[in-house]
Amino acid sequence: MKSASIIVGLVCLIMNSLLADETLLSFKQLPKAELHLHLGGSFPQEYLFSIAAADQREQLACFLDLISQGVDYHRGFQVFGLIAQIVNSEEKLQNGVSWLCRTLEEDGVQYVEIRTGLKDLGQGTEEYLKAVLRGIQESGAGKSFKLKAKIVLSLQRSSSAAMVEDTIDLALKYRDQGVVGIDISGNSALGQIDQVMPHLLRAKREGLAFTIHLGELPDEADQMLLLTQLEPKRIGHGVHLCDEAKEWILRHQTPLEVCLTSSVLVKMIADYKLHPGLDLFRSGHPIFFCTDDPLLFSTTLSEELLRAHQLCGLSIVEIESLVKESFNYTLQ
Ligand SMILES: [Zn+2]
Repeated sequence: MKSASIIVGLVCLIMNSLLADETLLSFKQLPKAELHLHLGGSFPQEYLFSIAAADQREQLACFLDLISQGVDYHRGFQVFGLIAQIVNSEEKLQNGVSWLCRTLEEDGVQYVEIRTGLKDLGQGTEEYLKAVLRGIQESGAGKSFKLKAKIVLSLQRSSSAAMVEDTIDLALKYRDQGVVGIDISGNSALGQIDQVMPHLLRAKREGLAFTIHLGELPDEADQMLLLTQLEPKRIGHGVHLCDEAKEWILRHQTPLEVCLTSSVLVKMIADYKLHPGLDLFRSGHPIFFCTDDPLLFSTTLSEELLRAHQLCGLSIVEIESLVKESFNYTLQ
């Protein structure tokens, strides 16, 4: 009797795993839009390993292992410093972007907005941006394969006024060459967003769209300032929103970028099904799924959809419809 029940258990396990493989394959084949992806956390691991020194490879593997077990928000994101040390030239940046685009294409992504903060790798921030754009071009995106890749320039809440100004100038200069908007992220306890608001308002007046990381951490004091002044087209995460911000987002029907694995692994939420975006979805509010940092969280957009199905209870039909609608929420 006991061995019979073990066999039944094993058969169920195999059947479930086959079913998951089949569902994942169907999500891969679905044309998808990836609208929340940071370049620094998305370079394919094989690419970074191919250009990193031996000690950097070791450190990166340690970081990725640490993050996979769940990590404190601030500690986990120290990995970005290491990645910046590995991708330390325009040429490596260009090749990394190209590799990333090809990887996204393999996962069935047909439109991506790659977020990146401008850096100076030796030749100034404009050369950094040009290297990213060359990487997209070199990958064949929009030519030999279907993926369309656009750039969203990232600012931190703690970015200096000079950096904000430079970023907005370049976003405006390159808006016809692939830059589609501005992302604001970072810890609200660092920096004072009101001091750079005049620059951000200039970008808004010029027609640049915003997406803002909001509610990554509890007690963000600047939520209403950012919402009312910049009127973002989308909200990243939205896990810890104050009541007023929640009400604003509902009233404006602002879509939420839900990054399930990221939210669990940096301990924004304790479990996949506790993401507040799921309740918003059930109430009819627009949401869609994204990866945030596929390298850091060892995930793909198709795998995020599988988790939404298996761990959060969304049906395949609901997910297909969310994916289809997400193409309406691009910053373009
Ligand atoms: Zn993010």
